[in-house]
Amino acid sequence: MSSSLKTLRIGRLATLVIAVAMAPISARAMSDSETRAVAREILAEMVAIRSVDGMGTTEGLVRAVAERFLAAGFPAEDVQVLVGPRPDIGNLVVRLRGSPGEKKPILLLAHIDVVDALKSDWTLDPFVLNQVNGEFIGRGVADNKAGAAHLVTTLLRFKDEGFVPDRDLIMLLTGDEETNGDGIKWLITGLPELQEAEFALNSDAGGGTTKGGAGYSYGLQTSEKMYLTFNFEVINPGGHSSRPRRDNAIYSLSKALNRIADYRFQAVFNATTKGLFRELAKLERGQLARHIRSLASARPSKRSIKELSKDPWYNAMIRTTCVATRLEAGHADNALPQSARATVNCRIMPGLAAAEVEATLNRIVADPQVSISRDNEPVPSDPSPLRADVMSAVKMAVEARYPGIPILPTMSTGATDGLHVRNAGIPTYGVNGLFSNPRGANAHGMNEHVKVEQFYAGLKHWDMILKALSSSRTTAD
Ligand SMILES: [Zn+2]
Repeated sequence: MSSSLKTLRIGRLATLVIAVAMAPISARAMSDSETRAVAREILAEMVAIRSVDGMGTTEGLVRAVAERFLAAGFPAEDVQVLVGPRPDIGNLVVRLRGSPGEKKPILLLAHIDVVDALKSDWTLDPFVLNQVNGEFIGRGVADNKAGAAHLVTTLLRFKDEGFVPDRDLIMLLTGDEETNGDGIKWLITGLPELQEAEFALNSDAGGGTTKGGAGYSYGLQTSEKMYLTFNFEVINPGGHSSRPRRDNAIYSLSKALNRIADYRFQAVFNATTKGLFRELAKLERGQLARHIRSLASARPSKRSIKELSKDPWYNAMIRTTCVATRLEAGHADNALPQSARATVNCRIMPGLAAAEVEATLNRIVADPQVSISRDNEPVPSDPSPLRADVMSAVKMAVEARYPGIPILPTMSTGATDGLHVRNAGIPTYGVNGLFSNPRGANAHGMNEHVKVEQFYAGLKHWDMILKALSSSRTTAD
């Protein structure tokens, strides 16, 4: 149990349940404290709806959010509740119209579905926004309802204060991200107006880390590794274990797995990882800094690659990895195994084709007895090129919060809705407004939490980034 969970137990009496109520829209522009109150109310409303995929509840959530936009004066044609591609997936598309001009729209992404949570597993009700000792606790408070509440509140505030961007801002709230990403795939391929966007900002990726309570670094996510699982299988006639044969399913599979263990995919670098290493080198000292700097150079040294590959994190950033994760073989203590199976999970660097990885595995295993098949169809996604305007907008927002900390371009190892938007040809950047300590928010786990002050600071983060990217007055000319 983490120390923060202990604090939660002690602080149970201090639990504050936030009521879900619609705040009246004021005639004048919302103050910062009113904005925070609205954001909290929206987050509470979202958490209170158990928007688990397959339950048919995401539609109710997006309808509640749509009501807020209509009440704030958004025209009905700019607030679209779209249910699909299945009847249990609710999505919302809201457009804040900008002044006419050349600039193409920006897409803003958040998903509103969550991984389910059981009340019996949690200290507190997961579907109530609880506030305990400076933290919001509830399913989805970090992944990704904070991000959704940030975007919704920011657009409502823009409308309220009369801010007219110089381009359209189009927010997509999607269901099914935690399952198949079917909501975003359906929207992005079905609505041609979305494909006109210049780029997308994803609230479900990127974000900052803190160390000892202070800001440490901010990760701007531009890329995702491709996820692909292989099944290794050896079938054998078997027989009595008192009369072993030369061929044995367990031995064949073991040899194959040992070859996988010894194999290292070639080191590859892209603009994202080079940029990341360049910034990381500044945070380190001595020999380590020299090795990291070498990775960022035009010709990384073999020695630096070898040294840094000893570290699992650097290794994963440098190359495609494949690792055995499950094993199953044999059926009786006194029988030769008739089958042996293993699962090998690969995380593939952007740009490398799944077929190439499969061919490599077959080549290094080099045993026709071992059949290798794919367990899932991988979704490739090319890294989005770093944009100076996005970079400088994010830098400004981060500087305002934690001056001097580095902005690191990052590649993540899982998949988000952003993957599908990139695949539709729209560069996508993960720029979440939260900073968390290295232990994280326990997203998908019990007692998911986010610091209250971080949630509120995220509002300013989005306000600054979006205004920087959609105000002619702040663009350099
Ligand atoms: Zn998420």
